[in-house]
Amino acid sequence: MTIRVYNTLSRGKQEFTPREPGVVAMYVCGPTVYNHIHIGNARTFLTFDVIRRYLEYRGFAVRFVQNITDVDDKIIARANEEGRDAAAVAADYTLAFRQAMDALDIAPPTVQPKATETIPQMIDMVSRLVSGGHAYVVDGDVYFSVRSFPGYGKLSGRNVDELEVGARVDVDERKQDPLDFALWKAAKPGEPHWASPWGEGRPGWHLECSVMSEAELGITFDIHGGASDLIFPHHENEIAQSEAATGRPFVRYWLHGGLLQVNAEKMSKSLGNFMLLKDVLEHYPAPVVRLLMLQTHYRSPLDFSVDRLDEASRAYERLLTPLRNLEWAKRNRSVVAEIQAPAETESLVADAAAQTRDAFVEAMDDDFNTAGALAAVFDLVRTMNGFMERYGIGNNARYAGRLDGAADALRELLGVLGIDAGTRSGRGEYPPEVLEIARDLAGYVGTDTEAAVEALLSARAVARTERNWPAADAVRDGIAALGFAIEDTPSGSRVVYRSGS
Ligand SMILES: [Zn+2]
Repeated sequence: MTIRVYNTLSRGKQEFTPREPGVVAMYVCGPTVYNHIHIGNARTFLTFDVIRRYLEYRGFAVRFVQNITDVDDKIIARANEEGRDAAAVAADYTLAFRQAMDALDIAPPTVQPKATETIPQMIDMVSRLVSGGHAYVVDGDVYFSVRSFPGYGKLSGRNVDELEVGARVDVDERKQDPLDFALWKAAKPGEPHWASPWGEGRPGWHLECSVMSEAELGITFDIHGGASDLIFPHHENEIAQSEAATGRPFVRYWLHGGLLQVNAEKMSKSLGNFMLLKDVLEHYPAPVVRLLMLQTHYRSPLDFSVDRLDEASRAYERLLTPLRNLEWAKRNRSVVAEIQAPAETESLVADAAAQTRDAFVEAMDDDFNTAGALAAVFDLVRTMNGFMERYGIGNNARYAGRLDGAADALRELLGVLGIDAGTRSGRGEYPPEVLEIARDLAGYVGTDTEAAVEALLSARAVARTERNWPAADAVRDGIAALGFAIEDTPSGSRVVYRSGS
């Protein structure tokens, strides 16, 4: 089986074969560090995190490079607003970006170069472009000459003459052509600057991706990713700079992620629907946010809303239910009675695990269809739940072992999607509201949601012994309000997620 990817450059799906067998060289445009990242940015970074994880799962060694744009007009503007140094603003938001990526369980890149640490290489590329006749100098600024590169427009499917009409509106008299863009900008007073053959200045934004990818991955690397709103002009300009400088193709596969809307509208501060990743993660655990986003194909537009986050929370609970039930069954191994389950059930569950792996790989091989892959995972969850119900696994540790292979497959595949399925971690297990209910009904004062549930169950057991039915019912109703139910078994009571899927 081979992986097929949609390549923006060829406008179709193509078989993916890296330039070097078994090794993938991949670059994704990183953030400009002038603010906290919003959930639209987060979706793009999540997309390429999952693509990278899947390529690794399929046995490739992935070298993943992502830049940090730490010198830029937006950073300088922010620094001026706050009366601070631009470098301090960039350092703060670089740290915030790394923390946000970590909070969303996004693996760090293999290399993460900063623009300000790559200045000599940038000057080198600009010099090569100037001496090759692809760039010219005006008053300390250096511009790329778009007309000097015949392939301009091939990624976005635009032609230079059409583009020219749009560009004439905002014409800079010093440029030879309205489409030409800055490679190097002469320093204005108070701005960060570095010495160059053209005077003190700083690099243009488009330049750094061309320079860093060449430095870290070489010429003609495998995958370049980013959001679809970067296709023009950013990625078009990257191609022009790199191919003009090297005379060789820049990238083999261009992958672009779809955009994100909030409540079916473009996210904007004026509409009041602007959501920062860090704020969302304060209320929803990372696996829930990942699950929501991965239910949509990465190239399609994604609608983000609090309702959808709540739906994803319930879906995440469903994913964990069989794992949680299985662990419970094993913990109670010594006290449960045995029930006979037919021998053929062993192969039934093993087959379901194998089929799920196949269906998962088939979906992901088709341009990283995470929605299809998740559908396969949910099928396995249903099979496991059905098996446990039919053979009373909740009460029968002996047959719980028959589900180990399926549980391993479930954890493994969720791991490929970066969805944490740790049932003992406490994260994502019971909602934080359980702490309040446990405090009111059981006098529990800690912060461990699992211990809170145990306290509630003990309080209910005591109430039942004392025939205090209102108190026992209050515990049951409190737990039901969180979407869970209490199940009474021969070996004691436990809390299960109520959905029967
Ligand atoms: Zn870029």
